[in-house]
Formats: sequence, structure tokens, C-alpha cells
Amino acid sequence: MTHVLRPLPYEPAALEPHVDSRTMRLHHGKHHASYVANLNAALEKYPELQARSALWLLLSCDQVPEPIRAAVRINAGGHVNHSLFWRAMSPARGSAPTGLLAEAINESFGSLEQFKAQFAEAGGKVFGSGWVWLARAEREEGGLQILTTPGHDNPLTDGCYPLLVNDVWEHAYYLKHENRRPDYLKGWWPVVNWEEVGRRFAHVHADHAAETEWEGEGGLVAATA
Ligand code: MN
Repeated sequence: MTHVLRPLPYEPAALEPHVDSRTMRLHHGKHHASYVANLNAALEKYPELQARSALWLLLSCDQVPEPIRAAVRINAGGHVNHSLFWRAMSPARGSAPTGLLAEAINESFGSLEQFKAQFAEAGGKVFGSGWVWLARAEREEGGLQILTTPGHDNPLTDGCYPLLVNDVWEHAYYLKHENRRPDYLKGWWPVVNWEEVGRRFAHVHADHAAETEWEGEGGLVAATA
């Protein structure tokens, strides 16, 4: 299997003015594309790994030969996380969480506004390059959690199922906001795709739903298409 860069689910300018089209074009067409190309290059001499999904490779780094382990981890992670990230956004419609998701956010964080503030604060504190997530522990009754990961790591490695993610690498915001990451985090909310977050939240309730997703092409993403 060759890993492929899927098109964005909307036009690069669709998230304007909250996320600018120049950033979107570079972020998807250059940065994400390079992770896919580098993942394929790393696997070139390892045909036994070529049938594995990017998510399997990310979660099974201990089974990846040492000479390509670091490259597989960063590039499979980059592929999986960016695929989730594009779907975490949609053209701004002023949507908000509904139903059980809205209740869970209120229970875990007090209110939607408090959740947003805590999420932005956590994202602002990531040192260097990384990601900020809303996630839920798998198959447990635990509440929702805000997590951060360095590099292109994913909370699934620690058994937490991601519901929402924002990219806090500089390439996600530098052209528009320069060094002001807090401005980017604060200004991002209008383009959050709460329907997608709600779908993922419903998914995690279903028996073994997460496992069936794991083997899909593009990891977590295919089953929610
Ligand atoms: Mn990125």
C-alpha cells in the first residue's frame, strides 16, 4: 500500500478569515504532503510493513525496525494527525456541541466557554511543536480530558480516543499570526466542526468501534467519512 494525501474536505479558502488560505495550501500541500512522501520513502525497503495503515504504524512503533523507527513515528503520526485535523474544521457556521457531547463538556469543564479557555491555555503551553486534543479514555466511564502531545504523537498511544485536535506547530499559524500562538488558538473556534466531534463522541460509545477504525486506510479517518 502506498500512503496517499487525500484532498482537503473543503477549499483552502473556505476557512477564511479564521484560517487563511495561504497557510492552508502550504500546510496541506507541502507539510502534510511531505509526511506522506517521507513515510512511503521510509517503507520502501520494508515490503512487510507496506500493507499496514498509518495508524497501525504509529501505534506499533516497537514492531518497526530500528533504522526507520524514528522516521515512521514522525511521518505516520504526521499523516494520521493532519488527516484528523482537516476534519476537525469546517467553514464557519457558528455551530456548537449538542446533546450528550454538550452535556459531557459541561460535566467535565463546567461550560463550553471554560472548555475553550482551558483548551487554548493547554495549546499555548506546548513547548516547541505539538498538538492539543480533546480526548476520552477508551471503554471507560471517564470524563473528557484535554491533552497535549509533542511532535506528531497521538493520544491513542496512551489509550485515549481523540475527539478534537488543533495543530500548534508554528507552520499552522505563523504566516497569519507570526509568533502569537494564543491569537491563533483564540481565533480558531468559529471553524471547529462540532458535528465531527459529536460523531467521534458517539463512536467511542459503540462497542469496539474504535478498533474497526484502526485498520482503515488513513487510520482513524476512513470510518468517519
Ligand atoms: Mn501541521
